[in-house]
Amino acid sequence: MRKALKAAGRAEDAAVLTAVTKTQAWDAIAPVLAAGHRRFGENRVQEAMERWGPVREDYPDLVLSLIGPLQSNKTAEAVGFFDVIATIDRDKIARAVAEEIQKQGRAPGLLVQVNIGEEAQKSGVVPSEADAFLKTCGAHGLKIEGLMCIPPVEGPRGPYFALLKKIADRHGLARLSMGMSDDYETALAFGSTEIRVGSAIFGSR
Ligand SMILES: *Cc1c(COP(=O)(O)O)cnc(C)c1O
Repeated sequence: MRKALKAAGRAEDAAVLTAVTKTQAWDAIAPVLAAGHRRFGENRVQEAMERWGPVREDYPDLVLSLIGPLQSNKTAEAVGFFDVIATIDRDKIARAVAEEIQKQGRAPGLLVQVNIGEEAQKSGVVPSEADAFLKTCGAHGLKIEGLMCIPPVEGPRGPYFALLKKIADRHGLARLSMGMSDDYETALAFGSTEIRVGSAIFGSR
């Protein structure tokens, strides 16, 4: 990360690392925690609560991010448990999250997921609808801090990362969650502030 940031002319602390622990055994996660790492990402609400719930109190500085799709029936649990929800992607979810934040008086950091390659199998708002969706979020009273994307596997990623940054910039959004095990260097070169890395840390799932 440091090398990639430096090569891009960015400060060494311009981006943070979220270690993605989905499906990993606790034996693999424990050494990373012991080494002092505190930012972790999970794909599923239930799995995250089972894995992290029991140790949460022991690590008050944990930062747990939901990076998988949020179902509306899981909204209350997600708002109550996560520090970051990176996958706000449709009106129904925006509305439900806003309601829960009101109800619980607890507000995770929120990112909107953009389906940057407009792929049918991926969640997120398509780029052409991002501006309108961000407005909708604002209308619901949600404070969106940034954008997240998972670019297509095929072809160069740079243009997708550049597009996400362009959308973020035009809304003054500082947080850009982009870059995974096989493309984090490129993402960092294109302005990522948070990379999400699983297999490059823990091995294949
Ligand atoms: C699994 C996952 C990651 C990590 O992927 P790796 O290729 O293992 O680094 C990052 N982001 C999301 C949204 C994921 O689901």
